[in-house]
Amino acid sequence: MSYKGRVLITGAAGFIGSHLCDRFVADGFQVVGMDNLLTGNLDNIAHLFKEKAFEFHHHDVSKFVFVPGQLDYILHFASPASPIDYLKMPIQTLKVGSLGTHNLLGLAKGKSARILIASTSEVYGDPLEHPQKESYWGNVNPIGPRGVYDEAKRFQEAITMAYHRYHGLETRIVRIFNTYGPRMRVEDGRVLPAFFSQAIKGEGLTVFGNGTQTRSFCYVDDLVEGIVRLLFSDYHLPVNLGNPQEITMMQFAHEILDLVGNPKAHIVYRELPEDDPKQRKPDISIANQILQWNPKFERAEGLNLTYEYFKKVVQVS
Ligand code: UDP
Repeated sequence: MSYKGRVLITGAAGFIGSHLCDRFVADGFQVVGMDNLLTGNLDNIAHLFKEKAFEFHHHDVSKFVFVPGQLDYILHFASPASPIDYLKMPIQTLKVGSLGTHNLLGLAKGKSARILIASTSEVYGDPLEHPQKESYWGNVNPIGPRGVYDEAKRFQEAITMAYHRYHGLETRIVRIFNTYGPRMRVEDGRVLPAFFSQAIKGEGLTVFGNGTQTRSFCYVDDLVEGIVRLLFSDYHLPVNLGNPQEITMMQFAHEILDLVGNPKAHIVYRELPEDDPKQRKPDISIANQILQWNPKFERAEGLNLTYEYFKKVVQVS
C-alpha cells in the first residue's frame, strides 16, 4: 500500500480515540496510539496490537512527548471526559488540556505535522443561546466543579489558535457534542452508560433533577467520519460535530427502559449536579457546508448497536 501518512492519536485507549485508531488503520495510515490509561482501557485497542500499522506508547501527554520518526498528523483526544471523572481528577484534567496540548502543539511544530484537537460543547457552558453556533462565546462558570474541563478546553482552543496565528501551524478544532457508542466505560457516570447498566441490572435509572434538561446524542461512527473530513479540510476555525436530535433526559430514560425491557428497571430521581447545562443542541451548518457532513445514524439504530455492547460488558450479579 502506498504511504498515506503517520498519525499520532492521544487518548488512543479511550472511547473516541480507539474508534479513531480503528478508522485510520483501516484507511491505510500508520498509527501511533498514546494513552496513560488513566481512564482509557487497553481492551479497546487490544485487537490492533497484531497490526503492523499500529504501535502503542504508554505515556502521559502532560509530560514532554517524544515520538521518534516522521509524523504527518496529530489528533489530541486524551482527557478525562465524563463529569464524574473530571470531578475526581480535576488537576489531571486541567493539565492534559493545557500542558498536554502545549506539548503536542510543540511536537506538531517540530514535525511539521497538522494537528487536530478535541474540543467540546462544554466550551458553551450552560448556554444562553440555543442551538449553539460556533460564534457563541459561551456561559461558563470558571470556578465551578465543571470549570476544570471547560476552561482547560477553552485554553486548549486559545493556544491552538495562537500556534496557528503565530507559527502558521496547520490546526483543526472540533467541538464535540454528546457522543455515544460501544466502548464507553460502564462506570464513567455519563447518562448513557449509567442508564444502560441500570436497566440491564433491573435497577433504578438515576434521572438527575426533574429530567427536563436536554442533550443531543451523536453515534460515534458519525462523529469519526466528521473528524476525518475536518482533518483533511482546509478549515482552521472550530467546527461543531454532533447530532441535532434533542431529547430530555426523562424521554431518554424511557427510551432505554423500552429498549432493554427489564420489568424490574424503573426511574428514580437524584439531585441535579452543580452547573449542569439545561439544554444542549449543536447548530451544524458549518460542518454541513464545509465538510458536507450530516449524521446518518438515527438514535434508535445507534442505541441498538450500543445495547449489544453493554449486554456483553455489564456484569449482572
Ligand atoms: N444524567 C442523569 N443521570 C445520570 C447521569 C447523567 O440524569 O445517571 C444527566 C445529567 O444531569 C445531564 C445529562 O444527563 O443533564 C448528561 O449528562 P452526562 O454526564 O452524560 O454528560 P454532560 O452532557 O452533562 O457532559
